[in-house]
Amino acid sequence: MKKETLLTHMGSTPKQHQGIINIPAYRASTILFPDLAAFDASEKGQYPHPTYARYGTPSTQALEESIAELEGADYALVTATGLSAITVALFAFLGAGDHLLMVDTVYGSTRRFCDLELARMGVEITYYDPAIGENIGSLIKPNTKVVFCESPGSLTFELQDISAIAKVAHLHNVVVISDNTWGTPIYFHPFDMGVDVSIQSATKYMSGHSDLMMGSISCKKEHYAALRRAFGNIGACPTGDNCYLAMRGLRTLAVRVKQHYENSLIVARWLAARPEVEKVLYPALPDAPGHDLWKRDFSGACGLFSFVLKDVPERKKLAAMLDNLDYFGMGWSWGGYESLIVPVDLSKVRTASKFPYKGQLLRIHIGLENPDDLMADLAAGFDRLKAGA
Ligand SMILES: *Cc1c(COP(=O)(O)O)cnc(C)c1O
Repeated sequence: MKKETLLTHMGSTPKQHQGIINIPAYRASTILFPDLAAFDASEKGQYPHPTYARYGTPSTQALEESIAELEGADYALVTATGLSAITVALFAFLGAGDHLLMVDTVYGSTRRFCDLELARMGVEITYYDPAIGENIGSLIKPNTKVVFCESPGSLTFELQDISAIAKVAHLHNVVVISDNTWGTPIYFHPFDMGVDVSIQSATKYMSGHSDLMMGSISCKKEHYAALRRAFGNIGACPTGDNCYLAMRGLRTLAVRVKQHYENSLIVARWLAARPEVEKVLYPALPDAPGHDLWKRDFSGACGLFSFVLKDVPERKKLAAMLDNLDYFGMGWSWGGYESLIVPVDLSKVRTASKFPYKGQLLRIHIGLENPDDLMADLAAGFDRLKAGA
């Protein structure tokens, strides 16, 4: 079955819901046991169904089965946010005295979790250059338990050679966790690259409408028990309503990302030809850093990328550009239907790698608007930048 067909038919069980196509949002806390025998079985860990909504409902189960199929995984879990998917996965495999290899260009909140929480728990963390490839072996120690990848980084878009990293990691029994939010399950297939645990912030394209937060963890069979344990003990479960909305968003994932990709290529090429722009960091452009790896490993690109201006304008001039855009909102997150732009300051992140450009970095998300309107909006912004008003 092709992905488009799967997205259309997965997680639908009309016979169990009076013919209704969509699985309803199960709003639940208590789940009743049918009898004392079932209760006693559950105390012994021998009852096969969820016994409390934190551990699952028909809404979460349908979504988990769908996401596992979509990513080509054996199992999946859904969590309250993308960040909780990451923290559950790290807690599942790391304890005091263990060593974590974390990519230097990782999502900022993941980095803060490592530095402010995992470090306090006695986990040793080494940040590595995203370009490390098979040389990851030189950083693996006897206590290394996890290599965490994110390709590309979501501010500066460095690609990683994940299959080379996974090959070396597996020689040392190290678990490879990868944040694949940018690639989406449509354009990147982590389990074909040797990834053991795949994270998605479902807040982004999976839900796609900027109206909910959720995460997913997909995995191979051998890692499921550890992930389910950590998930159950941390308690970061999603609501039934959000599961319903995420499933609804997934139905159109393939058509949406295709359009984000098409629009982004148009805007990225246009930006690359602008005199104000030093470099466009969109891996799908042939002269972008990491393009060859992107071409080898991805079958498309999403709507998130950055570009670097030739210089760093005065804040007042940048404000003239950004404050008066018609279609680009200034805000974090991405993967919704609308366009976004944020100025990025790299001074507080990155310790193991260098960003080679000096100009102002701007990250944009290209939404589902007509790209002609988006380019006109940015062109007027560049005019205001020059004029300073
Ligand atoms: C947004 C994001 C996350 C965190 O997801 P939330 O749903 O916001 O918690 C993790 N990784 C990447 C790459 C992201 O962009």
